Amino acid sequence: MKEEIKDILSAQAERGGGSVLYDELLSRHSTIAIGGTAAVWYAPSCPEELSEISKSLREHGARVIAIGNGSNTLMPGEGLDAVMVSLAGDYFNHAAYDELGQVTVGAGKKLSSFISDCSSMGLSGMEGLAGIPGTVGGALFVNAGYKSVISDRLLRVKIIDVLGRIRKVEKDDIIFGYREASFDRNAIIIEAAFHLDKAPPGDIRKRMESFFLEKMRVQPLEQKTLGCVFKNPPAGGESGARLIEMAGMKKRRVGGAVVSEKHANFIVNDGGATSGDVKELIRVVRDGVKEKFGVELELEIEILTGEGYVGERFPRPS
Ligand SMILES: Cc1cc2nc3c(=O)[nH]c(=O)nc-3n(C[C@H](O)[C@H](O)[C@H](O)COP(=O)(O)OP(=O)(O)OC[C@H]3O[C@@H](n4cnc5c(N)ncnc54)[C@H](O)[C@@H]3O)c2cc1C
Repeated sequence: MKEEIKDILSAQAERGGGSVLYDELLSRHSTIAIGGTAAVWYAPSCPEELSEISKSLREHGARVIAIGNGSNTLMPGEGLDAVMVSLAGDYFNHAAYDELGQVTVGAGKKLSSFISDCSSMGLSGMEGLAGIPGTVGGALFVNAGYKSVISDRLLRVKIIDVLGRIRKVEKDDIIFGYREASFDRNAIIIEAAFHLDKAPPGDIRKRMESFFLEKMRVQPLEQKTLGCVFKNPPAGGESGARLIEMAGMKKRRVGGAVVSEKHANFIVNDGGATSGDVKELIRVVRDGVKEKFGVELELEIEILTGEGYVGERFPRPS
């Protein structure tokens, strides 16, 4: 990483801005606990700071990558020459709830905390996402969903674009698909507004708990994973998990990476797995399913390498 890039961040931190860590272990920031070091881990204190700093960093040639809870991202095993932007600071964890059911929430807020707050406020519409261990920003970027998808109740987002401008983007101007959304890869989502329905808190909590318990029954939530590795093939056929199971891939292992016994579409880090182990196991599973059923499984997780994200799956407008 160029010294001038580090100087920009150190000067900002000295001015009392966000926090900066150098050579930060990415395994600490991904739910599968795999990853080498990132040159810089930067948590800004407010949007104005992030706007100014991200613009300046990019002008100096830095690669700036937004990251949430790392629950859908396989981090690179090698060193990553980039500035990872985390919205873990207080500002990006705020939420404001109004009487009519409009909610504005910081993109760094964990979904679990957001859903729980909504249920206490008697606001329904988010409980279908119970058990997804991501942030609001990460969930929007991949249009995460379980019983419902996060874009269902979205009104608009606030982003910082590649030029450092803070902009509002209405839902109608974003294309959402199955685990994908048309955000520019360089956009950093900083806030989102949703419209929720009023409902008795007890009813919301009951629904939330039943979804969560169902998820716990069928998915290895207690293990180090990234959730479903592959998307389900288009409607009508077997699920990804079923195809993997029928191809005899359950418990298949490469190094410390294993296909979960509980849910065949999950790969778990059984101890000491590397990014290479997971990628190789993905190849083995994909080849096995292709050979047996002629189905080409498409990735649901995101794979970050030293060169950037592998195979962007959506034509992201810049
Ligand atoms: C046990 C388990 C169960 C899961 N169950 C589900 C499920 O039921 N349904 C489901 O859809 N997913 C599920 N997942 C996957 C994952 O939790 C979701 O995709 C989640 O929404 C990812 O959020 P995150 O904050 O962790 O994103 P990250 O992994 O941190 O990031 C995902 C992508 O979004 C980008 N990004 C993150 N934050 C921002 C931001 N603020 N602005 C711009 N880009 C950003 C990153 O660069 C990356 O490309 C599961 C994962 C686990 C481990």
